[in-house]
Amino acid sequence: IANLVKSYRRGGQVVPVLTGITLDIAAGAFTALMGPSGSGKSTLLNLIAGIDKPDSGLLQVNGLDIAAMSESALAHWRAANVGFVFQFYNLMPVLTAFENVELPLLLTGLSRRERRERVEMTLALVGLADRMDHTPNELSGGQQQRVAIARAIVTDPMLIVADEPTGDLDRQSAADVLTLLRRLNDELGKTIVMVTHDAHAAAQARTIVHLDKGELIAGGAAGAMG
Ligand code: ATP
Ligand code: MG
Repeated sequence: IANLVKSYRRGGQVVPVLTGITLDIAAGAFTALMGPSGSGKSTLLNLIAGIDKPDSGLLQVNGLDIAAMSESALAHWRAANVGFVFQFYNLMPVLTAFENVELPLLLTGLSRRERRERVEMTLALVGLADRMDHTPNELSGGQQQRVAIARAIVTDPMLIVADEPTGDLDRQSAADVLTLLRRLNDELGKTIVMVTHDAHAAAQARTIVHLDKGELIAGGAAGAMG
């Protein structure tokens, strides 16, 4: 990421948000993005994930210039490469945990049987093998977030972006979710970019990046290494 600039247009007004971000995130890194409310964290995360496009600047992922891609090419790239985790889980309320996790696989051309194996394996990985038939309202917040993480990783994306994934969780559930993200980074080599307001959560990452008013103010190694 180099000199990345993003503003939003509302009516006739231009709202500047990111005023020139330069940041290198290594493949396999676990990076926490911190900063005050309104500083542009979600905006930056959405650009990295290819959900939104910058006004100017360089934005490359694995050598691919994602800012220059067409909307349809970008949608394909996202589906293949990026898993999303949100603060409020964004699960489909009428679907079971199994069905929620299966959703991203419905577009892949995998057989029903292959999909079932992948979903069962992924739900087992997040510790929910015994909750597959539960709907979200039959799960705790922490369990719902682990279903959401299973949904994010079931297609085996290289990059996971998480926007305040522990923001709505109690301390123990937050710790479980962070342990899980840490394992996905350590054991599966997933690159993770996580927005958080919680210093405990950020300490699980290997690098902490601080944003303020659309600019990076400091970077460096997180407290908890290895
Ligand atoms: P929080 O910690 O509260 O989630 P954030 O750091 O994630 O904050 P962003 O959501 O990136 O902040 O928003 C940055 C700025 O951009 C804010 O001032 C916000 O009002 C503005 N903004 C965000 N989305 C839009 C939009 N779609 N249109 C206009 N302005 C927007
Ligand atoms: Mg935000």
